[in-house]
Amino acid sequence: MKTVLIGVGQAGGKLTRELADFDSRMGFEAVLGTLAVNTAEADLQELPFETVLIGQDRVKGHGVGGDNELGAEVMQSDSQEVLASLEGRITAEAEAIFVVAGLGGGTGSGGAPVLVKELKRIYDVPVYALGVLPGRNAGAMYQVNAGRSLKTVAREADSLLLVDNDAFRSSGESLGEGFDAINREIAQRVGLLFASGEAVEGVGESVVDSSEVINTLRSGGVAALGYASGESADTAEGNINTVMSTTRRALMTGTSLPEASRADAALLVVAGVPDQIPRKGVERARRWLEDETGSRQVRGGDFPLQSDRIASLVLLGGVERSDRLQQFMERAKEAQKAAETEKQRGDPAEAWQNDELEDLL
Ligand code: GDP
Repeated sequence: MKTVLIGVGQAGGKLTRELADFDSRMGFEAVLGTLAVNTAEADLQELPFETVLIGQDRVKGHGVGGDNELGAEVMQSDSQEVLASLEGRITAEAEAIFVVAGLGGGTGSGGAPVLVKELKRIYDVPVYALGVLPGRNAGAMYQVNAGRSLKTVAREADSLLLVDNDAFRSSGESLGEGFDAINREIAQRVGLLFASGEAVEGVGESVVDSSEVINTLRSGGVAALGYASGESADTAEGNINTVMSTTRRALMTGTSLPEASRADAALLVVAGVPDQIPRKGVERARRWLEDETGSRQVRGGDFPLQSDRIASLVLLGGVERSDRLQQFMERAKEAQKAAETEKQRGDPAEAWQNDELEDLL
């Protein structure tokens, strides 16, 4: 799926960079173009591609400091400049646009939904969002911001592919190192998803096509992506077992949104050397996914790749009823209530939002 990436905010820019690097390292050429947008000049300076600084008149390049309403406002007033920078980048080859952002901050949280809406008015290709949920240790402001942003992005985008920062966190790392590791995990799986359907060799009936990714995401709402890999075996029977076990792990422990296993639609992509991908194994794993997700719309296909491993990539569309997401919305609502109480006590520093945060559905 030929994709144009637009990173908004700090996390958005860093993830866009990681995705572009992965795509070029693997030689996939699925990433057609990249752009980063931010209110903080310092964050843009580190990025090796075109950038747009927005809100200069309001924040003078210093960022919006976690104020996502201000993030939304400056994106709205400077959207023409952002859209102008995209001109010529979204060519006829482009099959999708991804707006990438951390949902808990200010610029990405507020700006991404606004940008998605503007892009959808102009372009015919699907406009998706890749959104990062703050981990449970992140402060209350992040939870409240993300709760609001998530609802708005999910409504505006053709689909919101969600990544929970807690899904990949390993212990003993500093926050910065932790983010870099998470970004690499995200880039690997999302990068493989982009590259699905871009295979040049072994094109045949069983090879996955970009339209299958788009059709799986078509159910709208929130999507998640699972991944796991294992060593390929010497026998067909061994490879059937490998495909089954990597698919199980991809869904059960390797997903970007833990505990999201019920879905409206799913796509299983099995990557590996073509003659080591067992038809029987892919079909068995696909049927297993139907049972687990409760969906009758589970597509399956191959992704020919030179590797001594076999990998399963599981894309889930329509996971908004998942327990994890409901838990997150509860967390965001509680954080907002706590902030309200603080405000009533007269602490102006905590008075960042007043509106009621409603249920997702
Ligand atoms: P913004 O620049 O105002 O959009 O805010 P940030 O992008 O700095 O932060 C938004 C959220 O993303 C916060 O909840 C952070 O926990 C998270 N975050 C910040 N940087 C990264 C990153 O590099 N990777 C990931 N996965 N999350 C990040």
